[in-house]
Amino acid sequence: MKVIEHINNANGKTQFSFEILPPLKGQNITQIFDQMDPLMEFKPPFVDVTYHREEYVYKELENGLLQKKIVRKRPGTVGICAAIQNKYQVDAIPHILCGGFSKEDTENFLIDLGFLGIDNVMALRGDAVKSETYFTPERDGHSYAGDLVQQISELNMGKYLDAEIENQAQTDFCIGVAGYPDKHMEAPSLDSDIHFLKKKIDKGATYIVTQMFFNNAKYFSFVDKCRAAGITVPIIPGLKPLATKKQLNLIPHRFSLELPDELIADVVKCKDNKAVRELGVAWCIQQSKELIAAGVPVLHYYSMGKSDNIRAIASSLF
Ligand SMILES: Cc1cc2nc3c(=O)[nH]c(=O)nc-3n(C[C@H](O)[C@H](O)[C@H](O)COP(=O)(O)OP(=O)(O)OC[C@H]3O[C@@H](n4cnc5c(N)ncnc54)[C@H](O)[C@@H]3O)c2cc1C
Repeated sequence: MKVIEHINNANGKTQFSFEILPPLKGQNITQIFDQMDPLMEFKPPFVDVTYHREEYVYKELENGLLQKKIVRKRPGTVGICAAIQNKYQVDAIPHILCGGFSKEDTENFLIDLGFLGIDNVMALRGDAVKSETYFTPERDGHSYAGDLVQQISELNMGKYLDAEIENQAQTDFCIGVAGYPDKHMEAPSLDSDIHFLKKKIDKGATYIVTQMFFNNAKYFSFVDKCRAAGITVPIIPGLKPLATKKQLNLIPHRFSLELPDELIADVVKCKDNKAVRELGVAWCIQQSKELIAAGVPVLHYYSMGKSDNIRAIASSLF
């Protein structure tokens, strides 16, 4: 079923969902199941599976020269989605990127998803590869998520890259896109970012999932600005419970967002990471309660490979 149908069928009740990462190469899928099992009693209508593009790793050779190696540390997005749908009968949503994909790769990826009975995709640009400052599209690939949304929408209409292809079966994907209450790190302003977000919707995306935020006022103001810009689709808040002291510096740096002073002060007072984890859960429960009261359609949690804290949050809310 499509995300948008899950939302419509819930008749205004807030639903629980979460995002998982494929395991590091070499690990087994049981790691995913162990993470998901404790969360399934909260009946997520859908679960997102992130996509991780290749990275460049430099290895020093005996002669002192550096050898560049291309590695994909977390492959398996599509396989995990198929396994999740098969094991739990919930909709699994693969993330798909512009980065590392030519248009042809994208088309073939989407054909695989369609054959697997996957009805939803989260369309993203992806970040620059770690050793580069700016995002570089693949040769004959897309530069922005909006262009990727356009290609998916066209395939939904049976429009393939090769216009002469026979039959032209239509796909039927519900397309999600990312939104940033703190604005995307490269956007010159929030207004500019929302302008391009609207373009993603105009090209066929039907819901938005936000980047994590720790201050609900940011989300509410973002939603107001989106509505004023003519964006009418559901805007699903993405939440992450803080878990370590280090994240006070890592999260603002990695995701280009601000943490509330009150949260910072409370984390600083914690004597160890166990205390930070408890604080992160309590903070996230408070955020969630306020968002539920405001009638958000879904609360979407970033699990980052661990589910005990998400379980603690879900059990006090759902
Ligand atoms: C919910 C969510 C899930 C994510 N999942 C993953 C994942 O699985 N794997 C992964 O690698 N990354 C993931 N990301 C991170 C994401 O790939 C990065 O944030 C990336 O830098 C931007 O992706 P985007 O789809 O928002 O890009 P875009 O919508 O393309 O926007 C990128 C930037 O370009 C600007 N822009 C957009 N269109 C145009 C245009 N036509 N002309 C000029 N400027 C434009 C925007 O304002 C923004 O600053 C996720 C992010 C979120 C919020």
